[in-house]
Amino acid sequence: SVARVYADANEIRPREYWDYENYKIEWGNIANYEIISKIGRGKYSEVFTGVNVLNNEPCVIKVLKPVKLKKIHREIKILKNLTGGPNIIKLYDLIQDHNSKIPALIFEKINNVDFRVLYPKFTLDDIRYYFTQLLRALDYSHSMGIIHRDVKPQNIMIDPLTKTLKLIDWGLAEFYHRGMDFNVRVASRYHKGPELLINLQQYDYSLDLWSVGAMIAAIVFKKEPFFKGDSNTDQLVKIAKVLGTDDLHKYCNRYGIKLSSDYDDILMTYPRKPWRHFINENNRHLSENPAVIDLIDHLVRYDHQERLTAKEAMAHPFFRGS
Ligand code: ATP
Repeated sequence: SVARVYADANEIRPREYWDYENYKIEWGNIANYEIISKIGRGKYSEVFTGVNVLNNEPCVIKVLKPVKLKKIHREIKILKNLTGGPNIIKLYDLIQDHNSKIPALIFEKINNVDFRVLYPKFTLDDIRYYFTQLLRALDYSHSMGIIHRDVKPQNIMIDPLTKTLKLIDWGLAEFYHRGMDFNVRVASRYHKGPELLINLQQYDYSLDLWSVGAMIAAIVFKKEPFFKGDSNTDQLVKIAKVLGTDDLHKYCNRYGIKLSSDYDDILMTYPRKPWRHFINENNRHLSENPAVIDLIDHLVRYDHQERLTAKEAMAHPFFRGS
């Protein structure tokens, strides 16, 4: 299948734009930066706060672990293409240790408040505001031919004091090309779209919109994460217990997918569970808004082609309401 929007985003641009394998990295001066303290450790990096000693500007230094050079080139080329776009983390510089050759990426620093502290306090207006910002980042990235492929709370930096939101971690992001088979081993388990779990390789930008839907559902129903699988296969079971198995099999048939035998013993028959069944005393102040339920319903769909695009989501009545 072909993306409903921006299918030609890379075709219309020169080869240098998307051909990251032949990209020649230009390194900045490592002496311009000092590490202050460690703030995080990911699968692919160690992240530090730091400072640019030339202008005293704070920054974040992401030191990459030894991964394939191809992956490093991809992340850097994508960041170069997107830097300056709305709600996209800004890449300031690239440096490399003289001896070890280990590369590090220098970013603008966001005074992020952890989502486990922030999201539970969200009002419907906060959801409207911050998800508009996230959808802007995604519509921009998609219009530039790039799928993020790892949208999750840990990759969304929010500074509530300045009401800033920036989408970070473009390490799994990829250029979209129509007809291309993509790796389904992307995104983190709780935010993996059904296409990844049924091994449908011709996916597109709409993968990111599933993750957005799962995030909104988690906040609105106060169930974090909304789909909490114990393994990749169990993740699809958790999804099927909400969306039902009828529509799952229709989805597989529509795209000619035969479900892996890994599901034989664990995927039973489940009815579709209406969204209103998730409303409880604890989440009523958010979940009793019909517009937000309708938005979730149009994002959390098996069929990636049925999901709202980022632009369509921004135009949804929920974002106009109060
Ligand atoms: P993962 O394996 O979790 O995907 P990663 O190795 O790809 O991580 P990032 O997600 O880019 O690395 O960064 C790891 C963590 O560092 C983030 O979750 C965040 O807490 C922090 N961090 C990264 N960039 C910034 C930034 N610009 N401002 C503030 N904090 C940041």
